[in-house]
Amino acid sequence: MKIIRRISGKIEDSLMKKNLEILLNEDIGTAYFSKDMEEDSHEYEMIAKIVDSHNLHDSIIGTKFSSQEILDSEILVFTGGRAFAYPQPESPDYLTNTYNDSCLYCGVFGEQENDFVIKKEPDLKKQKVMTLNWVFGELFAEINSYDLYFKPMGLDSRTLSLSKGGKIAEHVVQVIIPSLEKEIKMDELEFSKCPVCSRIKYIPSTIGFSPKPEIVDFNIVKTVEFFGTGHSANHKILVNHNVMRSMIEQKMAKLHQFVPCR
Ligand SMILES: [Zn+2]
Repeated sequence: MKIIRRISGKIEDSLMKKNLEILLNEDIGTAYFSKDMEEDSHEYEMIAKIVDSHNLHDSIIGTKFSSQEILDSEILVFTGGRAFAYPQPESPDYLTNTYNDSCLYCGVFGEQENDFVIKKEPDLKKQKVMTLNWVFGELFAEINSYDLYFKPMGLDSRTLSLSKGGKIAEHVVQVIIPSLEKEIKMDELEFSKCPVCSRIKYIPSTIGFSPKPEIVDFNIVKTVEFFGTGHSANHKILVNHNVMRSMIEQKMAKLHQFVPCR
């Protein structure tokens, strides 16, 4: 696991520019620079020493897991397939049309009441598992992939409606993912409480492993908890080791779409 940091700042004078270019071994331009680097790199070790004296900004922007760390994990977060359409009507009203008890302020919602609606039959190319823009906690699958992969796993599906012509999509269904039976212990994660509906959502962290649930006897589940910032909230989708492996083997997902839990 590697922590990725971003160093950025205003280039105040030619001396500063020269010092930074010696450290980074590259041309950094003239007005402002920004560079991402691994926390345990020599480069970062050197630049960290001058962050304060040069008024630079240093922040963690993410975590890079090794292939082995992903492939060896018992439980992983599936961060979703490629987005294939926007939910209709566009944000944020699709929430109230789709779910019960949804809150437009924080984005938290209750049971799904209606099908998602998209504009028209999607042009899928080779995609097998997809996500809707803004809706990261729900999975959609090309119909054959659903029949061959998700259905035998015992997962139900529901149709996806098309706003043009009032029909349903022929090639895509929503895969119904059950909820995890229990909340995950997340003592260390920050959360916010909505001033309108009083429900809680966790700040999604990109640093390190994702929290692992105590219950692990599932194929695919959604977390009980919501994650998000601003007006957005989604459940996380968790998969077990075998599902991660088979989704990669069957070209439904790529390695980097999984975040190991620990
Ligand atoms: Zn709310």
